[in-house]
Amino acid sequence: MRDVTKFLSGFRRFQHSYLGKKHELFDQLVKQGQRPRALVIACCDSRCDPALLTDCDPGDMFVVRNVANLVPPHVQATYFAATTSAIAFAVHNLEVEHIIVMGHAQCGGIRALLEHKTPNCNEEELIAKWLGIAEDARQYVLRDLSGKPEHVLTHACEQAAILISLENLMSYPWIKQRVEVKKLALHGWYFDMQQGDLLEYQPESGHFEVLVPHLEMA
Ligand SMILES: [Zn+2]
Repeated sequence: MRDVTKFLSGFRRFQHSYLGKKHELFDQLVKQGQRPRALVIACCDSRCDPALLTDCDPGDMFVVRNVANLVPPHVQATYFAATTSAIAFAVHNLEVEHIIVMGHAQCGGIRALLEHKTPNCNEEELIAKWLGIAEDARQYVLRDLSGKPEHVLTHACEQAAILISLENLMSYPWIKQRVEVKKLALHGWYFDMQQGDLLEYQPESGHFEVLVPHLEMA
């Protein structure tokens, strides 16, 4: 088993960066509390840390991470309270101005949703129940894209699941009301880690379009 030395030396570098050089920032965050402008709902995947991907400072983002970056609908809010209570806190208490649902390529959760295996144990049952939130994405892919190559189905399902989460966010009256008076904006982002692009859902075109293109290699 690998040890945690890497994490400890990383924390040492964090101390140097934020408790030394950027002391004022952290001092302010400790004294005045956090006031993040955005809530980001991201996947647990170890390659998709939103603060790392966006090079944010402490205090910039309030982050909820779960398998496949899903938002349960309002009718299931109490059933999946770990995610929904964090969303409620970000919106009601912190009054964030943006909610970003950040999905990604090669999502193991979405792959499991598409494989749709019958759960063999309690652990698989738990995961399947959670992924059921995005069942409509699976149905859409099976119905509208059958016969397409696997990578096309996977990408489509990953992106459709983001749209379901955005739709589910709007099922919360306290989110819908804030969106309608423009106090809150919802965004659907997709990190294509194979291409190195960041995409955003554009309601006008109905597609995910490149927001930040990948670096051109010399
Ligand atoms: Zn994922």
